[in-house]
Amino acid sequence: MSISNNLITIQKNIPEHVTLVAVSKTKPVTDILEAYNAGQRVFGENKIQEMAAKYDDLPKDISWHMIGHLQSNKVKYMAHFVNLIHGVDSFTTLIEINKQAKKHNRVIHCLLQLKIAQEDSKFGLSKEEVKNILNSYDYKNMENIKVVGLMGMASFVDDENQIKKEFKILTSFYEETKIHQPQFNIISMGMSGDYELAIAEGSTMVRVGSAIFGNRNYAV
Ligand SMILES: *Cc1c(COP(=O)(O)O)cnc(C)c1O
Repeated sequence: MSISNNLITIQKNIPEHVTLVAVSKTKPVTDILEAYNAGQRVFGENKIQEMAAKYDDLPKDISWHMIGHLQSNKVKYMAHFVNLIHGVDSFTTLIEINKQAKKHNRVIHCLLQLKIAQEDSKFGLSKEEVKNILNSYDYKNMENIKVVGLMGMASFVDDENQIKKEFKILTSFYEETKIHQPQFNIISMGMSGDYELAIAEGSTMVRVGSAIFGNRNYAV
């Protein structure tokens, strides 16, 4: 299957209210252009400098999403163009994003990453930490950040019930939080292996890589 065929198949599986982020990490700009020419405009990367290099090389109507774990000292390389940062998992990072966004006179949209997987290896905030950030005086005074929702990653397991359970944690916490955060409008959950399950559980944004671009080869 070609990239454009994969995209068309996946788009057919996704309802209109769900945004498809095409995860192009490790893939060359030629692959991204193929998806672009098939109509895709939203792309996700997990390394800031790789995303910045691709931003420079590619059409400027692409919406770039940072989906990876963030290193605060690299935020400056994307502050002028990034459209949405999914994986914010510390207050320090939020402070840095706000500072860099201010330099470019932008308001950067962010999602807070909630830890929903049982595995220890995953990054993310606890519910308590999310609440503390959103209720803090410091956050409320950040003029160049807008937290527009939550992101989560389920465990890498075959057990669908386990994955479903973890997605439900994110959705119900989102609903609870949205009561006091009317600007919330995004639940980012679901990848190649579980995006249909995620949509059934309430996801409004899926991050799909290998099902579009094929397997990644990290050995290069
Ligand atoms: C790589 C990645 C994805 C996409 O993974 P696939 O299984 O290839 O769809 C989604 N979300 C995050 C945070 C990722 O790092």
